[in-house]
Amino acid sequence: MRPEATIDRQIAKIAQRQIAVIGGGIVGAAIAETILRQGHRVTMIEPGPFGGEQAASYGNGAFISPASIIPMSMPGLWRQVPGYLLDQSGPLTIRWPFFPRLLPWLTRFLLAGRSKARVTKTAKALSELLSKSPERHADLAARAGVEEMIHEEGLLYLYVDRRAYEADALSWRLRADCGVKTREVEGDELRAMVPGLAARYSLGILLTEGRHCLNPGGYVDAIARHCVTNGAMTQASCAQRVLMSGDAIVGVETDGGIVACDTVVVAAGIHSTPFTKQFGDRIPLEAERGYHVEFADMPLNLKVPVMPQDLKVAIVQTAGGLRVAGQVEFASWKAAPNWKRADLLGEKLRSCFPGLPAKAATQEPHRWQGNRPSTPDGLPVIGRSRNNKNVIYAFGHGHIGLNAAPMTAELVARLIADQPPPIDLTPFSPERFR
Ligand SMILES: Cc1cc2nc3c(=O)[nH]c(=O)nc-3n(C[C@H](O)[C@H](O)[C@H](O)COP(=O)(O)OP(=O)(O)OC[C@H]3O[C@@H](n4cnc5c(N)ncnc54)[C@H](O)[C@@H]3O)c2cc1C
Repeated sequence: MRPEATIDRQIAKIAQRQIAVIGGGIVGAAIAETILRQGHRVTMIEPGPFGGEQAASYGNGAFISPASIIPMSMPGLWRQVPGYLLDQSGPLTIRWPFFPRLLPWLTRFLLAGRSKARVTKTAKALSELLSKSPERHADLAARAGVEEMIHEEGLLYLYVDRRAYEADALSWRLRADCGVKTREVEGDELRAMVPGLAARYSLGILLTEGRHCLNPGGYVDAIARHCVTNGAMTQASCAQRVLMSGDAIVGVETDGGIVACDTVVVAAGIHSTPFTKQFGDRIPLEAERGYHVEFADMPLNLKVPVMPQDLKVAIVQTAGGLRVAGQVEFASWKAAPNWKRADLLGEKLRSCFPGLPAKAATQEPHRWQGNRPSTPDGLPVIGRSRNNKNVIYAFGHGHIGLNAAPMTAELVARLIADQPPPIDLTPFSPERFR
């Protein structure tokens, strides 16, 4: 063997870290896959099944959309807050009993969208985070051996008419400025692309580069299995705290034993807060609760996923059936689901496709509630803890966690390797809330 090869190996061994990834949703799984390729030893800590119903990554709208760069909080949103409190069946609601506790987060949320300049900055940061995300997912799925799970037919945003589209002019201008490619679809082409669509829709904006995931939960599971095949360890328990010896990390205590490690990645979605608290980082994180309803046997052949802008839902064909996902409900992640909200999604499906039967032929629809891990400024937290450089945060992806997971993984891998990131990390810094 060449002496240089021996030296290279020794260097690689010295650089090899023992990393615990807390959380096995799409973000944690994508991170584990990427850092394994860097040659690190990885343990994935996850109490539930990978991509199981406990994770937001299970039940999302499956959109991998280059257009998802517009934050929820936009100029003028504050005017609608009284309506959100009063109308408990609207697309965004705040459950009254939780309002006082949520007030500080909601205030920051509204302030984040107070001006066009702020929103433009957020959109720019998100567009960098999502850059080439459809291609990144195609590559990730191919490495995990499930390339068929990422579909390439594009994504269609639906408008009742051009006036409604023009009311969203700021969002589409920001998207165009960030290089998002679109094509208008009308008339016969729209009807052919979306058979059965309600007559009231006259305009579609096709995201030509958009993709969707056929089975979001199964995708996470496939990535985790691929990691295990490539040497990752798994710990099927709940992480409690990071164990230290002086300033050095020595492990993660879980309810099923200790996982030895020298580096920790916190990717536990809405459950990441106990770890940020342990390291003295104050990061406001709340659940934007969402729902889905999935019909195993609806007679609709939907090739291109749609997002009717008047209904604010994603309608997508998944491996499990026709899924309608959406709703933003502010309460607490601990609060019981309000299944009326899932039923409302079924009504929205029929409003978009009036020819569908009121009930599926054989099976009751599957109803699901999950928690988007959300920061008030609509940007995830990706970066080192202020107090320990070997604690790396990767959570708070809100509405775009599926979409942003591969780039997040790349950013975490660069931080671990002490290499410059491919995009500016400042907007995602954990320090920005201080
Ligand atoms: C209705 C709805 C629709 C959505 N639509 C889209 C969409 O179309 N496109 C998109 O990109 N995003 C969408 N999202 C958002 C996306 O689903 C989330 O941003 C993403 O799933 C977050 O992934 P995550 O891995 O950070 O968290 P999660 O998927 O929630 O995973 C966190 C994991 O951590 C584990 N965990 C928790 N505590 C611990 C602990 N102490 N120790 C170890 N493990 C722990 C949990 O069991 C869980 O498996 C949607 C979300 C919802 C709710």
